[in-house]
Amino acid sequence: MIAEIISTGTELLMGQITDTNAAYLSARLPALGINLYFRSTAGDNPARIGECLRAALRRSDIVFTIGGLGPTPDDLTKETIAETLGEELVFDPAAAERLKDYFRRIGKPMAENNLKQAMVPARGAALYNPAGTAPGCAFRGRFEGSEKCVIAMPGPPSEFRAMWEESVKPYILAAFPAAASLSSAMLRIYGIGESTVAEMLGERTRSADPSFATYVGKGDVLVRVTSSDPEKLRKGVEEARSIFGGSLYSEDGSDMAQTAVALAREKGVLVTTAESCTGGLVSKLITDVPGSSEIFPGGVVSYSNAVKRSLLGVDAAVLETKGAVSPETAAAMALGAKALMGADIAVSLTGIAGPGGGTPQKPVGLVYMGVADGAGVRTEELHFAGTRDNVRLRSAMAALNAVRLALLERI
Ligand code: AMP
Ligand code: MG
Repeated sequence: MIAEIISTGTELLMGQITDTNAAYLSARLPALGINLYFRSTAGDNPARIGECLRAALRRSDIVFTIGGLGPTPDDLTKETIAETLGEELVFDPAAAERLKDYFRRIGKPMAENNLKQAMVPARGAALYNPAGTAPGCAFRGRFEGSEKCVIAMPGPPSEFRAMWEESVKPYILAAFPAAASLSSAMLRIYGIGESTVAEMLGERTRSADPSFATYVGKGDVLVRVTSSDPEKLRKGVEEARSIFGGSLYSEDGSDMAQTAVALAREKGVLVTTAESCTGGLVSKLITDVPGSSEIFPGGVVSYSNAVKRSLLGVDAAVLETKGAVSPETAAAMALGAKALMGADIAVSLTGIAGPGGGTPQKPVGLVYMGVADGAGVRTEELHFAGTRDNVRLRSAMAALNAVRLALLERI
């Protein structure tokens, strides 16, 4: 099934707000087997919304509209959809009652124009809004000879999300059972770029069942395998395992931090960090994961040489002769953090994030990583290109991956 999203609102076109609703919806459609082919944005102008809608209906089976369900005269999405599909809007007494009840509960008088929100399609359905007044609407109708579905959803993100979960998704699963029978696995791959991942999948990226879709993640690559047949899905995942080997680090969509934290919890291992160029990013990513307190006593942000010396016990002579960005310093940082925090595994990062500070010997993007555990300490020299943000994110991902590998080596 092919879908399209039309976001409405002049504020979106003016850059005053970002279209987070379309991103939220886009991320949820593949799991239902719905292929999103287009997204467009129109201002609060019925003619232009109508134009987008007609283009969308010509090329898609299901169209989602976002916004314009409010009570004010510039909220015209429902009226435009009804007109385009040649459908009628009728007054729904139950929806009106829910509106009145909402205003009674919040103790405010209801303006007469709010009753406009109780107008729903004659065919199709009103979609309950658990978080606000405006119900959504599912329109069913014909456009240029084909049966179409248009789902109108409200703009406020809290209402949009609640309505998706509680009303829209169940409606789609009931109305289009084929969507319900699809299942998928989200695989995550570290250390291989997206184009190489696609190349390694080869012909499979063109196969329909199971389908393989690749996405760029934050420092990793995601591959969604989808099929309506559980056996085909299982085989697809198995093939991916043999293609990507140890680079395939997650099969349930968990990211690197979630994977490393889960592994540490499973093994009852304490993990700590000593960060220079990442300024605490690794600690942040670890503590983003609920339950990380079980495995993360704390970490050290040792940005200056003085702190590397005083907190982590890095030898002044090492800093003097080898420099802060050196394998020797990375090793000493990891050992120092491990001892300071009483941890089983410590990972350290020291490097040149840029844009300044590089030299011919130590260019921007050069990062040393240290890993200290029961087996001693080892270091790795890493090189990353791009912006300061990119160097820091890639470094943090490398550190989390190193923690994961160290954990896998433990019995
Ligand atoms: P509307 O439903 O069009 O009256 O929109 C109400 C409010 O929801 C707007 O003022 C925005 O703050 C927000 N909003 C509308 N559309 C979006 C969208 N696509 N993504 C995020 N927020 C939105
Ligand atoms: Mg609007």
